Amino acid sequence: MSFSSLGLIDQITRTLDTLDYSTPTPVQTEAIPAVLAGRDVMAAAQTGTGKTAGFALPLLQRLAMKGQVSPNCARALVLVPTRELAEQVHESVKAYGAGLPLRTMVAYGGVSINPQMMALRKGVDLLVATPGRLLDLQRQNALKLNEVTMLVLDEADRMLDLGFSRELDAILAALPKKRQTLLFSATFSDPIRALGNRLLRDPVRIETAPRNTTVKAIEQWVVTVDKKRKSELFLHLLKKHKWEQVLAFVKTRRGVDELVELLQAKRIGADSIHGDKPQPARLRALERFKAGEVQILVATDVAARGLDIDDLPVVVNVDLPIVAEDYVHRTGRTGRAGASGQAVSLVCADEVDQLAAIEGLTGQVLKRIEEPGFVPDHRVPETVAGGQIVKKPKKPKKPKGDAKVVTEDVRFRR
Ligand code: AMP
Repeated sequence: MSFSSLGLIDQITRTLDTLDYSTPTPVQTEAIPAVLAGRDVMAAAQTGTGKTAGFALPLLQRLAMKGQVSPNCARALVLVPTRELAEQVHESVKAYGAGLPLRTMVAYGGVSINPQMMALRKGVDLLVATPGRLLDLQRQNALKLNEVTMLVLDEADRMLDLGFSRELDAILAALPKKRQTLLFSATFSDPIRALGNRLLRDPVRIETAPRNTTVKAIEQWVVTVDKKRKSELFLHLLKKHKWEQVLAFVKTRRGVDELVELLQAKRIGADSIHGDKPQPARLRALERFKAGEVQILVATDVAARGLDIDDLPVVVNVDLPIVAEDYVHRTGRTGRAGASGQAVSLVCADEVDQLAAIEGLTGQVLKRIEEPGFVPDHRVPETVAGGQIVKKPKKPKKPKGDAKVVTEDVRFRR
């Protein structure tokens, strides 16, 4: 299967040659002809499947073949949940559209709005944006949405998780009803299906990986540990496995800063990405990590999406995510585009519910390892298939008088 057999024009296939994309990925094989034919699409595709090219290539081709844009308008709109993803998608769009006579732009919050307003004056063919900044631009009359004929919701599940549904509704209300809409989501939760039913007309449904599974090439395991010893265990594993580059996830911004300080004190190059950091600092941290200038990038889930780092060998969940779907997104950072990877989770007794929810969602019981010297005092209850926790039999109570002794065997709980 070649890109040209999917209906892409020479200019684009030549660009793909220069990028060394020789064969379309499964999601590209299905999405490209459908989008070129003007169909709506509902695709379950995680980061790492090549979904960005799946929607960007045919959209760019359609934009290049037909139409012109008016001042302060956009013809295609790609909505994404985070600033990092906005940058990454726009970088891809620029690469895929090299040589096409199209203007593209990215707009997100946390940076000055004025340059974005200026850049919109001539109009843009394709705009990648986060929902909040897009609405700001529209409310300040820098952007009119009445010429948008193609809309992409990328990582729509994440957009809802991050609480963007009101912004989405406001944007959707301002868009022309007659348009092509593409919805991409790593997982198909019920709210996503409802959104799809509301927005899409007779969509082509694409589900290239089974629902809610993590990428197969990733070796995943859990190390059980007491909560207060997680950082120490992280340092130990880093040394033991001689990991060269690690993306580490921590629950809180404070936890991120503490881990970075600890690593730096041990002279290990580390930087962080979290919501408190201004956008330029986040991008700088990502660039330094990508360039190999720092060994460890510590992040909260805000940063989980939108990081495009090829061949990242290791992701460590220093804390498990609160939302089980985030485990899938986090581990999606490694083992990308067919490369193998490892995803290690440091789990304490308090996190057993999260662990069970992850195992239930991904349909697997994660392999557990006890690291000598770190065996926890507070043991993490066993979990079994289906996301259930095995409760330890309670110690029989001392019988009072001749009351019957009731013991419980094994109980399951959701
Ligand atoms: P995405 O899922 O869109 O974030 O893409 C994941 C990674 O795969 C990116 O680094 C892309 O550059 C790369 N990629 C996408 N499509 C192809 C392809 N057909 N051949 C080789 N690499 C690809």
